Amino acid sequence: MPPQSSERNRTDYDVIIVGGGPAGLNAALILGRCRRRVLLVDSGNPRNAVSQAMHGFLTRDGENPLEVRRIAREQLRPYETVEIRDGEICEGRCHGDWFELREADGKWLSTRKLLLATGLLDDIPDIPGFAELYGRGVYNCPYCDGWEHRDRPIAVYGPGERCVGLALEMTLWSRNLVLLTDGPAELSDENRARLAGEGIRIVEDKLAGLDGAASLERIRFETREPIEREAIFLNYGEREGSQLSRMLGCEITSQGTVETRSYERTNVPGLYVAGDASRRVQFAIVAAGEGALAAFSINNEMLKEDLLR
Ligand SMILES: Cc1cc2nc3c(=O)[nH]c(=O)nc-3n(C[C@H](O)[C@H](O)[C@H](O)COP(=O)(O)OP(=O)(O)OC[C@H]3O[C@@H](n4cnc5c(N)ncnc54)[C@H](O)[C@@H]3O)c2cc1C
Repeated sequence: MPPQSSERNRTDYDVIIVGGGPAGLNAALILGRCRRRVLLVDSGNPRNAVSQAMHGFLTRDGENPLEVRRIAREQLRPYETVEIRDGEICEGRCHGDWFELREADGKWLSTRKLLLATGLLDDIPDIPGFAELYGRGVYNCPYCDGWEHRDRPIAVYGPGERCVGLALEMTLWSRNLVLLTDGPAELSDENRARLAGEGIRIVEDKLAGLDGAASLERIRFETREPIEREAIFLNYGEREGSQLSRMLGCEITSQGTVETRSYERTNVPGLYVAGDASRRVQFAIVAAGEGALAAFSINNEMLKEDLLR
């Protein structure tokens, strides 16, 4: 029988964390150390699943991201108040000062506080080779993978003006750059001049596909000869890893992420969102930091409710 509003202390858990990436796992660690009753539910589809090596994470530079998750789970084992479950949360309801969540098998769970750490997923062009080579020459984040291809032949993919910034940014990593607009480039004269000034060639032919065995080797076009490239960076869009934040009434920014206030709070009392799902700086270490911030704030909120009335 789910608890009534006045019975929030009888919920199944103090905190349910949805999502077991860096954000959710670090939140579980902090809350476990505070001896809170925590359930972390993870559907096992992290944003960087295709990546062989995670970069820019203190002491973990170059580590396989799935191995980092495995170690994080292992290090949660001593915290007996933390339970980890592989599964999916499909529905959520807010009851004022507690929440109910439905698992994929239909079971309902109740919790005082809720942290959504459900990440983002990237859109990839529907062109042969992009999905197959994603993470092996096809990337979306130069901070994550640019250094490995420094001074090498690189392409930037994207129709329209929004790729001009990425193409210019890529000059930090290589001067051997082409911008692929996959059809007539709708660029202003000013942007064409900017790109030309940095020596960036624009190729406006339609793409036919990407070739490569272990990693990207060649880009094919419908009407011109292929070009050799070892990396292609995209600015193609992303979407939320889950619809739970919308279901629960969170404000969404114009970029499609959840609007968070200080300490990862949302407009819904007791509901926090951390990691890629909430912010524009989308690094694993930032996600982990946001998870820690949310955990600190959740713990403080419960302390105030229970002890400082
Ligand atoms: C190809 C690629 C390479 C990258 N390389 C780097 C890098 O080198 N360095 C770096 O700092 N960052 C890198 N990133 C970015 C990094 O992956 C993200 O910043 C980081 O994973 C965000 O962590 P998170 O915890 O917010 O989300 P995620 O790691 O995406 O985890 C979210 C989790 O929530 C789960 N989930 C979603 N919905 C539900 C639900 N309803 N129920 C249960 N579980 C759910 C998902 O299955 C997933 O496991 C890369 C990204 C990509 C795409």
